[in-house]
Amino acid sequence: MLSKKIQAALAGSSAIRAMFVEGKELAEKVGAENVFDFSLGNPATPPPASFNRAVKELIDKEDPITLNGYMSNSGYEDVRAAIAENLNSRFATNFTWNNVVMTVGAAGGLNIVFKTILDPEDEVIVFAPFFGEYKSYAANFDAKIVAVAPDYDTFQPDLAAFEAAITEKTKAVIVNTPNNPTGVIYSKETMQKMGEILNSKEKELKKEIYLISDEPYRELVYDGVQEDFLTKYYHNTIVGYSFSKSLSLPGERIGYVVVPDEVTDAQTMLAGIEVANRTLGFVNAPSLMQKAVACCVHEKTDLAFYDKNRKVLYEGLTKLGFTCVKPQGAFYLWMRSPIANEEEFVKTAKKYNLILVKGSAFGCGGYVRLAYCISNEKVVRSLDAFAKLAKEYGL
Ligand code: PLP
Repeated sequence: MLSKKIQAALAGSSAIRAMFVEGKELAEKVGAENVFDFSLGNPATPPPASFNRAVKELIDKEDPITLNGYMSNSGYEDVRAAIAENLNSRFATNFTWNNVVMTVGAAGGLNIVFKTILDPEDEVIVFAPFFGEYKSYAANFDAKIVAVAPDYDTFQPDLAAFEAAITEKTKAVIVNTPNNPTGVIYSKETMQKMGEILNSKEKELKKEIYLISDEPYRELVYDGVQEDFLTKYYHNTIVGYSFSKSLSLPGERIGYVVVPDEVTDAQTMLAGIEVANRTLGFVNAPSLMQKAVACCVHEKTDLAFYDKNRKVLYEGLTKLGFTCVKPQGAFYLWMRSPIANEEEFVKTAKKYNLILVKGSAFGCGGYVRLAYCISNEKVVRSLDAFAKLAKEYGL
């Protein structure tokens, strides 16, 4: 009945979603207030007030035929111009509306870029641990993911392993910083070296290799760290962005792709992406949301909310004897499982109503991910449950 691809997708269905469902079932049994569900990266802060105001004003004041109508498959030109100007003012770039394509979130953006550049059997390099959906997106176009192991001390990419993984089949490389699931920010040095490797491999292999920067967490950085924008490190860099996390709008499905002029034959690439947006069935990003986010490009989510959780959790878990990577960005904490089989650890944690996600869902066993986008009060209370868990493992 089902296509072979969907049969395969069903069999390998998302571990994150599975844990989210388990969390919900547990909540029905023991009460939602007693479940510490660290499974899903669903923002815990409301969208900024300016977003609500913009939506109301747009509905009341804009011509509905324009506001709710079709537009160019790449989105409204004024919205794309507002995004280009915002990026230029923050990152000294030189974009115009024509470098920007509005997308149905980061997921929609990655899929249209993949459709534009990938042929069957092409390889896409990802850095473990990585957002598991990359595999599904590549599979949509019969391409393959090649995972490069991290430097386990820092969770920066292992660049020697990266260089060795590039072949004639490599078409794209995905970077995601601040990173889901580790919360690590790739250093400037990492990005510079990655750019150098890609430049020399392009020359050696006489082909284009695209660096796709998946940046839904760009603004979620702590400790006064300066936000980075990766197009300066390598000419063939395409940026995918989402307002899902920065403005807490994951259900609204709104983001964008940037193709800088430095990308080889950028205009043809942009034309391809526009066609892909249409033929994949997105047609265009939601019109009201395009207009609304254009009014809030300078806004950020309440970083202090997540920072509080980050500190309580990192300090609390470390004190209990767990080994954690200190998060520098996003809202995830990456923790070593006290036993090699982290799936067992995840099961044991559930006994204490702690819902964690196994590292193998991100291509990196032996670790677990905690999404700390839950209430501050719950994060504090979860430490008692973690204390019991630590005791069970003799920490
Ligand atoms: N990329 C990464 C690294 C993510 O963590 C997510 C969502 O959690 C996405 C892409 C997809 O984001 P969107 O909701 O904008 O499609």
